[in-house]
Amino acid sequence: MAYRFSSDVYRHRLDRARILTADAGLDALVVSTGPDLRYLTGSRADTFERLTALVVPAAGAPRLVVARLELASIRDSAIGDLGIEVADWVDGEDPYALALSGLPGTARLAVCDTMPALHVVPIAGHTGSAPALATDVLRELRMIKDDSEIDALREAGAAIDRVHARMGEWLRPGRTERAVADDIRAAILAEGHTEAAFIIVGSGPHGADPHHEFSDRVIESDDIVVIDIGGPVDPGYNSDSTRTYCFADPPADIADAYRALQAAQTAAVAAVRPGVSAQQIDAAARGLLAEHGLAEHFIHRTGHGIGLSVHEEPYIVNGNDITLRPGMAFSVEPGVYFDGRWGARIEDIVVVTDDGCESMNTGPHDLVVL
Ligand code: ZN
Ligand code: ZN
Ligand code: ZN
Repeated sequence: MAYRFSSDVYRHRLDRARILTADAGLDALVVSTGPDLRYLTGSRADTFERLTALVVPAAGAPRLVVARLELASIRDSAIGDLGIEVADWVDGEDPYALALSGLPGTARLAVCDTMPALHVVPIAGHTGSAPALATDVLRELRMIKDDSEIDALREAGAAIDRVHARMGEWLRPGRTERAVADDIRAAILAEGHTEAAFIIVGSGPHGADPHHEFSDRVIESDDIVVIDIGGPVDPGYNSDSTRTYCFADPPADIADAYRALQAAQTAAVAAVRPGVSAQQIDAAARGLLAEHGLAEHFIHRTGHGIGLSVHEEPYIVNGNDITLRPGMAFSVEPGVYFDGRWGARIEDIVVVTDDGCESMNTGPHDLVVL
């Protein structure tokens, strides 16, 4: 059994999904494989050209459509325990007609973000209208994490903290970013993740590129190195944490900029509480960096929601006036980037509590001298 929450958790989520679908004036939600299906049923099935889809009608019981040869892929989920009707199909049959049977011919649908166009287009052909996005229907549900999800995020945070704590085992001048990344990947798995979803080893000038992955560059003794790593821990909740490392006390300009970054990250985390808007958290980090003349060096949003997806709502960005509520989980990750020279970022995942937030990551935030 790969899913871990009790079937009651999934029953509750499916009920809420049905109510939200009805509230949105839709006839059904159609969810193919990906994070929404995992959220609603615990299934980690991963199909592409053969349609696997959970159909949640606004009225009536959910049904799962799945190719007969993929039936095994749904066994490790709550689908059986919940008594969800499974309609299987074989190659040559029309899975879209099967998925839409029982719905009005001009059904108004929402489909999940991860559904391939390969399925969306024929579904729209059947109903005669473009579907809406399930994200808009499920946002409220997926954005507010329940206690079992927060436990899972806490576990994921502790697992990635253990990897960062071991960084001195692998990160050394004279090694390539790639060799270090290989060791980090093994440690991410050894410390309890099911997968290393991403590994950034940004040494020296590469640290100035926030989405650099790793390369054959040989790490030098005066480099600043950005390490941003994470991945899912069963039952699929992700870690994501960045720390910045070096091998000797850095020159004063770098130390000063890093101190300002650390103050910005601390201020942003301290600003997190219910009632504050997402953009106010972004402004807290940005304002502090601006005070130190570093505004132009902070070239991305302050954070992103996290859960079954590494990037999901709420986004902590200027222009997002969504009000924070208990249970929301997101990263706080300001960075400073000096083109062609160096960069630094500090990233923690926080969960909004009744009167502030809890950090899922507890390791040191200082520039770590290995
Ligand atoms: Zn990113
Ligand atoms: Zn990250
Ligand atoms: Zn992140």
